[in-house]
Amino acid sequence: MKRIAIIGGGIAGLGAAYEVAKAGSRGEQVEFVLVEKDERLGGKIFTDRAPDPDGGWYVADGGSDSFLTEKPAVRNAAAELGIASELCGTLDENKRTYIVKDGKLVELPDGIMMFAPTKLVPLATTRLYSWPGKLRMALDLLIPPKERWGPGETAADHDETLESFVVRRMGRECLARLAEPLVGGVNGSDPATMSLAATYPNLLEMEQKHGSLIRGFLEQRKRVEAMRARVPAGAPRRTFFSSFVGGLQRITDALADAAGRGRIRTGVAATRIEPRRGGWRTHLSDGSSIDSDGIIVAAEAWAAASLAEGVDGRIAELIGSVPCSSSATVVLAYDESDCPFDKRWHGVLTPAVERRHLTGISLMSSKWPGRAPQGRVLLRGFLGGPRDEGVLEAADDELVQLAREELADLLGMSASATPRYARLFRWPGGMPQYTLGHLARVAEIEAIEAQMPGVAFAGNAYRGVGVPNALESGQRAAHKVLADLGIEVPAVSSADASGSRRPEEAR
Ligand SMILES: Cc1cc2nc3c(=O)[nH]c(=O)nc-3n(C[C@H](O)[C@H](O)[C@H](O)COP(=O)(O)OP(=O)(O)OC[C@H]3O[C@@H](n4cnc5c(N)ncnc54)[C@H](O)[C@@H]3O)c2cc1C
Repeated sequence: MKRIAIIGGGIAGLGAAYEVAKAGSRGEQVEFVLVEKDERLGGKIFTDRAPDPDGGWYVADGGSDSFLTEKPAVRNAAAELGIASELCGTLDENKRTYIVKDGKLVELPDGIMMFAPTKLVPLATTRLYSWPGKLRMALDLLIPPKERWGPGETAADHDETLESFVVRRMGRECLARLAEPLVGGVNGSDPATMSLAATYPNLLEMEQKHGSLIRGFLEQRKRVEAMRARVPAGAPRRTFFSSFVGGLQRITDALADAAGRGRIRTGVAATRIEPRRGGWRTHLSDGSSIDSDGIIVAAEAWAAASLAEGVDGRIAELIGSVPCSSSATVVLAYDESDCPFDKRWHGVLTPAVERRHLTGISLMSSKWPGRAPQGRVLLRGFLGGPRDEGVLEAADDELVQLAREELADLLGMSASATPRYARLFRWPGGMPQYTLGHLARVAEIEAIEAQMPGVAFAGNAYRGVGVPNALESGQRAAHKVLADLGIEVPAVSSADASGSRRPEEAR
């Protein structure tokens, strides 16, 4: 019997475990042992189900709350696990986004696609941007695409920071009032260091193909509208983001159940890996160890880097150079009477220039069905990230209080409004940063890994930070290690293969 040790019980590690378990149930002589340092499984996917004292439940996602519907990995896994009927889309009748400007909420104008306006009238009439800012954005239509490349670079492998790209195409105001809050608040990234090729390669392609972001997104908008027009009237529309009725943790729970909880150990950390004749020995925090033929490291970059030291020094160095930002979310439930604001929105983004601690807000009870009992409002605030990590030094109750005060101020709630549910979720080093040179570093990790039979690294630190990317990376890691051990692996379906080895959009 071959054994594969898996370190980390987030979606990547659980996805890998499920693939190994499937090989075992096909009759292959292989098993896995998964160790997770926390008492719970799921990693950054954490759904808290809490009762309201007057009845009903809150479904509070403290980490990821959704995945991009167009990426197939989670949907495919849900179908295989028999939980596809529990998938749900967002409540798009409430799909509005606000940006904080001078302390007030201003609706994101209709037609903005990522950083580009595609409708003239909403852009002309919004008070989100100044007239010089609007004209500078429109100049994107005239500015020629980049034609000069760095030494040894071509259009195909060009990279630059998101900040440099947005400023040269759309101007500084677009960076400060749109691009920065979008990637800062939601992806926990700093545009000044973020690699565009590793996070939004489609923007570079769009510039080369259409000569302008506005023209590129206009083209994209027409395609989306044509697709929607083909959907028969009354048929359910696929929303941009998806989750599960009972919260996103449904997928990691189902993966753990299907892989076999009997082979999973929680509350114990891998402390060191060392080679052993024909395989690996993983030392654990309780003093025991696991001997295995193959090993999959599916921990966060900072944890994987230290474990990789016993595997390959260069891989350890490369993974160690992926910085990770820390954040926290505060989920709060209020009585509807304490929330005298229009509730037809999904999110608020706070630009760094507004100098607030809350980098974003999600109105979970308007974004998803069934997240709060009737008459209650479920809100989630984001704190920290690369621009404000210092705030996380505050104690838990101070952070909850800070979120309450800033929410009350921004949404016009009474400062004395008392939450019926309040929970803080901390994510230290939870978000890897794909900085300039990321793709080259990952290519080198993969090249070394390919020469090391039975070894694979998985998770969100490599080729996409989104939940589907992390799941797919775990599945691929399992397939690599199984194949290295001489175990047959079924071909990956074409739906899964698309986009998998290509750098992905950040989410
Ligand atoms: C606040 C927040 C919100 C997010 N929102 C979204 C979203 O809405 N949509 C989206 O697509 N993505 C989102 N992401 C990103 C997404 O959650 C992650 O990319 C994905 O869930 C990561 O999965 P993973 O398995 O790679 O890593 P993790 O979930 O980080 O799992 C790694 C696991 O390894 C364990 N571990 C670490 N060291 C050891 C050790 N030595 N021994 C044993 N175990 C160890 C950790 O405890 C952890 O459980 C969000 C991330 C954060 C932080």
